[in-house]
Amino acid sequence: MKVKKAPVICGAIGAAAAANALHAALFRPKKTEVASLPDETVDLDRYRRHLSEVIRIRTISNRDMDKVDWSAFDALHAFIDENYPLIREKLEKTVVPPANLVYLWKGKRSDLDPIAMLAHQDVVPVTKGTERDWIHPPFEGYDDGEYIWGRGALDMKNHLVGVLEAVEALLEDGFEPERDVYLLFGDNEEVVANDKNGARDIMNYLKDKGVRLDCVLDEGGAMLPVNVKGVIKNKYLAGIGIAEKGYSDIEITVRAKGGHSSQPPKHSAIGVLADVVRDLENHQFKAAFNENMKLLFESVARNTTYPVRLIACNIKVLYPLLLQISKQIPPAASMVRTTTGVTMTQGSPMANVLPQRATITVNFRAMPGTTTEDLVSHIKKVVRNKDVEINVLSSKEASVFSPVDSRVFKIIERLCKGIEPNAIVAPYLVMGGTDACNYEPICENIYRYAPFKADTKLLLCTHGTNERIPVSCMEDGLRFFKNFIREASAE
Ligand SMILES: [Zn+2]
Repeated sequence: MKVKKAPVICGAIGAAAAANALHAALFRPKKTEVASLPDETVDLDRYRRHLSEVIRIRTISNRDMDKVDWSAFDALHAFIDENYPLIREKLEKTVVPPANLVYLWKGKRSDLDPIAMLAHQDVVPVTKGTERDWIHPPFEGYDDGEYIWGRGALDMKNHLVGVLEAVEALLEDGFEPERDVYLLFGDNEEVVANDKNGARDIMNYLKDKGVRLDCVLDEGGAMLPVNVKGVIKNKYLAGIGIAEKGYSDIEITVRAKGGHSSQPPKHSAIGVLADVVRDLENHQFKAAFNENMKLLFESVARNTTYPVRLIACNIKVLYPLLLQISKQIPPAASMVRTTTGVTMTQGSPMANVLPQRATITVNFRAMPGTTTEDLVSHIKKVVRNKDVEINVLSSKEASVFSPVDSRVFKIIERLCKGIEPNAIVAPYLVMGGTDACNYEPICENIYRYAPFKADTKLLLCTHGTNERIPVSCMEDGLRFFKNFIREASAE
């Protein structure tokens, strides 16, 4: 019997399309229990006033400790003493030199591991020559009713003051935690990969006391509005940082005879270095999606609208394609591999002198699992010139991944959804550095999340001009902190 092929093929395509449509229909956000948060006593006016005042205190850190104005840190400490009377009365304060703050709020159960709320006290300076670009001066803490302006408004005096307000309010409510609660405020987070690190000193102080922390909550992701026409509608993406990349500055040197530039050789030291740069840029690190990162893509895919979801529901088979695309887009590439940025170069000090020594500095941002040693091996492998000298100038290793199924991760997830039912909560990899990874020796559950709604445009002002926080997101931030401390400090 002869079978007519066309109807069979059409039937098969139809069945596959129907199966995919069903898959897409079922490919919905995973159900998590969402209960709106209890009503909180939240004094927004006080939070606003205190944030403005704290922005006025110029706690600027510097790689060179002698250049830091430590009186600003003293002023911040005095401000906390003066304005948070219950914290002063009920919490035990220790200063870990030079200006790191440790507050211990004793809980009822000494058999349980304590929780820790982190924040850094320092801010970055304002770049010389850009002071006049600010709509409101960077150290005035001006509150125009819509925004509070100034250095640290988003990174991260908003968070620091938010934690203090939350603890003071919980004390006013008569709340007593089960677990001990630590407030750990480092003094030089903004100084990257420094020998002297405030957070590490605090960690060592705790380690010497035999403290193991149940969890750490530090700065990191925010509640980002996500709206892409035809793809995703009225959602918020709450990224919880579960790991952070490493940071290394590595100098590569080429030596040569030098001499007068009127009689140059075929390639000067800089010419030789050019090949080194090419080798490095042409041999990028291998890109890969980490399993934890796939959770982020999947969570977003599940929230896409029709008809995009017909494709998005096949995300698992699309990863190889997504990886290829990601490698071509620098911000996406930085999420999937160790990046190589050649940032500085130096040759002869004079235009008419051939260099005897030429250097480049390469800034690497390493994926978790790639160590500084791996970076050096990579350079040795991909650079054909074996006479180069490699010198690690500074480095901070990448963190490990914190679990996404811990008690505390679930609390953060539930609170995000309690505040914003349209939130997509997912783990992500933090590109910059935070103090949090310094606590790895005494803590496994390290999360980076700032509970403030802010769009990408605003977040880009961090470390830049016109840093400001929308007043509208501050109440939710405070509610989050109060609830987080209450829930995370329970058994
Ligand atoms: Zn920060």
